[in-house]
Amino acid sequence: MTLAQNQAKTHAQWTERAQRLSMATGHFIEGRHVPSVDNATFDCINPANGRVLAQMARGGDADIDAAVASGLQAWNDRRWRGLPPRQRMDVLLRLADLVEHHADELALLETLDMGKPISDVLNIDLPEVTKTLRYFAECIDKVEGAVTHTAAGSLHLITHEPMGVVGAITPWNYPLLMAVWKLAPILAAGNCVVLKPSEQAPLSCTRLAQLFVDAGGPPGVFNLVNGLGSEAGRALALHPDVIKLSFTGSTAVGKLLMAYAGQSNMKRVALETGGKSPQIFLPDLYDLDAAVDRAVGGIYDNAGQVCNAGSRLLVHRDIHDEFVRRFTARAAQAYCPGDPLDPATTLGPLASQAQLRNVQARMARGLAEGAQLLMGESPGAALAAGAYLGPALFVGASNRMSIAQDEIFGPVATVVPFSSDEEALALANDSVYGLAASVWTRDLNKAHKFVRELEAGVVWVNCFGDGDMTQPFGGYKQSGNSRDKHMMSLQSYLQTKSAWFQTG
Ligand code: NAD
Repeated sequence: MTLAQNQAKTHAQWTERAQRLSMATGHFIEGRHVPSVDNATFDCINPANGRVLAQMARGGDADIDAAVASGLQAWNDRRWRGLPPRQRMDVLLRLADLVEHHADELALLETLDMGKPISDVLNIDLPEVTKTLRYFAECIDKVEGAVTHTAAGSLHLITHEPMGVVGAITPWNYPLLMAVWKLAPILAAGNCVVLKPSEQAPLSCTRLAQLFVDAGGPPGVFNLVNGLGSEAGRALALHPDVIKLSFTGSTAVGKLLMAYAGQSNMKRVALETGGKSPQIFLPDLYDLDAAVDRAVGGIYDNAGQVCNAGSRLLVHRDIHDEFVRRFTARAAQAYCPGDPLDPATTLGPLASQAQLRNVQARMARGLAEGAQLLMGESPGAALAAGAYLGPALFVGASNRMSIAQDEIFGPVATVVPFSSDEEALALANDSVYGLAASVWTRDLNKAHKFVRELEAGVVWVNCFGDGDMTQPFGGYKQSGNSRDKHMMSLQSYLQTKSAWFQTG
């Protein structure tokens, strides 16, 4: 079924299709779905209605041992890295085709599991997944080494080689896409991988593991273990045979993983962590409506569960009141909570009741600190069983308040006013995070100065969230130490060898 056919489906059709959906619930090791060694499971819950969707295998040390051993066997017998590059490329390209072929199934798994609106999965997540797979497939035979200038009698080669069994631990906000941002470059580089997806939304990744084998990927090259972070995740991070760990998730867990690496085998740890991204609106911006429109999308898309969400709105005092007026009107019109299986829905539930409680506790703290809350209501009785929250905006806040400093990871933005460029810059950089930032102005010299001075890995000018596969994505400061997307991500899963020949 084509993307266009899926996009044309109605709410009733999706609801009916959801009744017939089958779900793989095991781990995926050596090309097969398997239960946990001790048969343990955990409940996978639909956040839109609180119902149990599936009982997933709950992995522990023994399951991680089995998955890593399978990956190590595949590494040692060279069944993946030993293939000609174009053969590996074909597997990843076929996997992209299979993702498209199974788009309706993957979209439903994602929507039921974490509450993401189905139209977002079809229009954003899945197209990005296939782009990522195809981009890194195409990179496979573009990796080059070097021959350096040496004295006569010597030949010096610099080559880049895969590393071994890489572990990947991923979050729930874009379950499939965040995993594929790891898997595609790890596999393209010739490594084997063990993935531990988020326990909040494991279903789509579990399906993807099977599709890799269906695409011709050798069993054992991509293994997956489901389970809790403190159990399966910890075991993977501590495993002595995992050469590198690639993580996307919270800053707090990222710090733990660095400690686990130190306690075990000093594995390399690549981190993509949290954010509190500032958007700076200068009074000379081109078009206030267009800026407000992007500001609204920048915080309420995916119910604000986005690492680079533009959650700190730094607005010049000259335009502050009008900005807030248009922002609240636009948000109320564009983001009304609804059933994520309805293609018209733009704001689904948060990923879990626990996340809803967490967000509400942070909002209560903002009120206690003296900020004023506009919007942010819980929706009506019809949605009461789900983890829903309407779009929320704090005004009258200072940048030192917790609502301007802490990552809330929900549909909650905070406006902080400023009076000068210097003040805007100081406020923007006053954060432990440094993932993304944007500046809105018609003065490109000024924009360029902001770009130079902003402490962020990604900066947008007169836009927000734009980009393609050529954009390295990752943060400064406590937002991480690595980059996803771009060829440099593939290179980060290679290690460099220098070979010096005496040629006589
Ligand atoms: P999280 O840190 O709670 O969990 C992420 C993953 O880590 C999950 O798979 C979880 O099971 C695992 N985990 C938890 N404790 C662990 C432990 N002790 N040992 C090993 N693994 C453990 O994050 P989340 O709530 O799933 O996702 C939200 C976070 O992810 C936010 O902070 C968000 O900013 C961040 N994120 C960052 C990016 C980026 O590119 N920088 C992208 C998406 C999400």
